[in-house]
This record gives sequence, structure tokens and C-alpha cells, in this order.
Amino acid sequence: MHRYDAGTEVLAEAVMSYSRQRMSYQDVPLDAPLTAAQLRARAGQTITPQGLGGEKALRLFGDVLAQACISTDHPRYLSFIPCAPTKAATLFDLVVSASGLYAGTWMEGSGAVYAENQALAWLAGLAGLPETAGGVFVPGGTTGNLSALVAARYQARLDRKEHPRRWAVAGTANAHSSIVSACDVMDVDFIGVPVGEDGRLTGTALREALEKSGHDGVFAVVATAGTTNLGIVDDLESVGAVCEELGLWFHVDGAYGLAGLAAPSVRHRFSGIERADSFVVDPHKWLFAPFDCCALIYRDPTVARAAHTQRAGYLDVVTDGAAHDEINPSDYAVGLTRRARGLPFWFSLATHGTQAYTDAVERTLSVARYATERIRHSDVLELLHEPELSVVAFRRQGWTPQDYRAWSDRLLADDIGFVVSTTHAGETVTRLAVVNPETSEADIDAILDSLV
Ligand SMILES: *Cc1c(COP(=O)(O)O)cnc(C)c1O
Repeated sequence: MHRYDAGTEVLAEAVMSYSRQRMSYQDVPLDAPLTAAQLRARAGQTITPQGLGGEKALRLFGDVLAQACISTDHPRYLSFIPCAPTKAATLFDLVVSASGLYAGTWMEGSGAVYAENQALAWLAGLAGLPETAGGVFVPGGTTGNLSALVAARYQARLDRKEHPRRWAVAGTANAHSSIVSACDVMDVDFIGVPVGEDGRLTGTALREALEKSGHDGVFAVVATAGTTNLGIVDDLESVGAVCEELGLWFHVDGAYGLAGLAAPSVRHRFSGIERADSFVVDPHKWLFAPFDCCALIYRDPTVARAAHTQRAGYLDVVTDGAAHDEINPSDYAVGLTRRARGLPFWFSLATHGTQAYTDAVERTLSVARYATERIRHSDVLELLHEPELSVVAFRRQGWTPQDYRAWSDRLLADDIGFVVSTTHAGETVTRLAVVNPETSEADIDAILDSLV
């Protein structure tokens, strides 16, 4: 089972050939979910005392299980936030698995950590943070946001002689659900700041909301750089300035949107990001890396290290190294054991160079602008908000939630696209999230044409 033998060779061929075919397949079907009963009928009991054998298990995966999973890299998968990894990133994911890497500590994974840190440094540089900035790749924006806020509270506990009865984080109702969820986990209050017509958090609104709340335990403010639903970027400049004035940790949640830092046509929207104490951006969203990969970056990583380092007798050898400038990624976030999940992203960046990333992000923006113009000129479609990034949200006049549902089901059943509805201000509407450079104007046409 562990030895590389003739059987392994056969299985390697089969797995490589499957992977190669899936990756080169031009018209990857969207596929669709099955019910548990359907899967039981088609796949049956897959784990048995004697085993099925690799070939049979792989066939079962390809013929049944994989077809019950929607292809998130399909060019007409425009729901939620798709995942559109480069071929280089996907291929290198196989290498990461084959290499027995442990990337939690410098001692075990210095080479991998070095490469991951260069990828983090590219992102920190785009944001205009100092060279001393750093962090770690975590599974997703959710873990990233939580870890940043834990570091922020740690800092506040050190800074304040008197601790408040309750700690609190401020943000808008547009902040991602993971922020309120992080507050629940940390048992801190969440102070909602109202937003104006344009949906953006501003420094003025923040200051007013903080004064009005009278809360004495606010330690951090979360601004969003690209809301998931509408792609709204908060006014980072004025929010950052108020944070600096009031001595509050400024965290920017850019899980989806901060990839736009690489795109000159939208870079100005993020002005003020250089004031952030921490930020997250998910390469598995708009930076062409496979799941699961979120870059969590701190202006001053030493605070995060103090907040997150786990101590145990068996880890003493590792902690000693950290005292000598060794970087242990696990010290910067919630979680200990870690896969070198930043490496597929690094390999792709190293392979293609950063200009290719700029071009690819710009390409998605240009397709999103095409969709915007088509909707603007349609008789039955209406933009909900002037798109700031690559998410285009709109309504189909006269449609009920059932109409959206029926349309979305039909699109998937006909293998035309995967576009679900969303809710905005209590209204059922829909949206297109373009993060896949393979998504073309013709793909947008196919979907919009199905709405009239
Ligand atoms: C997707 C998203 C998150 C959550 O990130 P995960 O990687 O799904 O955990 C947080 N904030 C924003 C703005 C997002 O778009």
C-alpha cells in the first residue's frame, strides 16, 4: 500500500491521464448535484474491507461522483465567486501533494515557506505595505479574517491599561458574513455602521457611529474591498485615517476584490489600502489559484506571531528557531498543521510573471464591463449598482423569486450556465461574477439572451 510498485505505476498512469484529460477538456460540462438517494443508487457502498482497487475507484469517481459536482472553473459558472486556476497552478497542486511538504515551520519547510513568502511579498507590495509586512496562506477569507481580528484584540489587550467590559469590532452591514461569525467565535460585539446610497463605508460615517454607540471596547474596524454580492469597495482612505486617529486596528477584507490591486484600471479604488494593519485576499477567487488559498498579510507580523504562536513541549525546538529569525507560518493564524497551500499560486506566478496576472485580471474586468453595457441597454434588465469591479448585479423586471429559480435551474439543466439568484435589500435579483479569463463576451451573450 505504501511501496511504489508496479501497481502504483498503473494507478499513476490512470490518475495522470484522468487529470490531464480533465484539464485539457475544452468543453468541460457544468454537471449538477444529485440527491443522496441518487448517489447511493449510482455509487453504492464505496468503502469495503477488501477495497475496490484504484482503477475501479477512479472510474467510480469520474463516472458518478465528479459528475455530481459543478465545475467551478467552467467559463459560464458565474455564481458566488468561481475558481479559475491557471494550468500551472493546478498542475503544481499535484506536486505539492507528491512532495511530502510540511509548511507550518521553517525547520521542516524552509524552501516552501521562502517561496510562499515571495508570493505574499508581491501582494503586500501591490498594497503598498512596508517590506517588513508578512503573513501566511490560510484556507480562506473566513479563517483569515478571524486570525487578523484575534491579532488585533491581542494588541488592544496589551495597549490598554484598563480593559472594557466587552470588546467590539466595527463594520458595515455589507461586511461579509464571516466578520460577524468571527465576532461570535471571539465573543465580541459587532457595531454596524450605516452606509449611504452608494453602499460604501466612509470615515465620517464610522466616526459618527462610534460616537453614537458610546462603546468603549472597539479595537478594530473592518472595511471591505469588494463586497461579494455587489463588488462595493469601501472608502479605505478615510476609514484608514479615522482608524489611525483613534488608534484602532484597520483590517481590510479583500477576499474577492483585492486581486484588483494588480489591475491598473481599478487600482485607484483601493487607495488607502496602504494604511491597513492587516488584509486578506483569496488567490482562489480572482488570482487563479486552486482551492483553498487565502493570503493573510499583516503590517507588523510580530504582533500576529505573539497572538497566535502555540506553545507545547514537543514544539519547543520550533519556537527556539523562531527566536532566531526563522519564520514559522503557523505562528500567524489560527491552525497548526498546514499544507503549503500557497505554492500552486507561487508556481504560477513564477511561471507566468506578474504582468500575465495584470492582463488576466484586466481581461475579466473588460468582460464584466461588456456585461454592464449590455444590461444598461436592455429593455428588461436593470443594473442594481454601477459595477466597481467584476461583479455585475442586476434585476430582470417583473420577475418573482420563482421565475429566477426556474430560469437558473433551466440554465444548468441545459448546460448553458450556472447563475443563481441572490438577495439584495430584500429583493431577489441575480449577479454575474467574472473572475475567469476564459469567460468571453459570447458567454455573457448566451446567459443574457436567456433572460429576455
Ligand atoms: C469569499 C469572501 C469571504 C470568505 O472567504 P472564504 O475563502 O470563502 O472563507 C470573506 N469576505 C469576502 C469579502 C468574501 O468575498
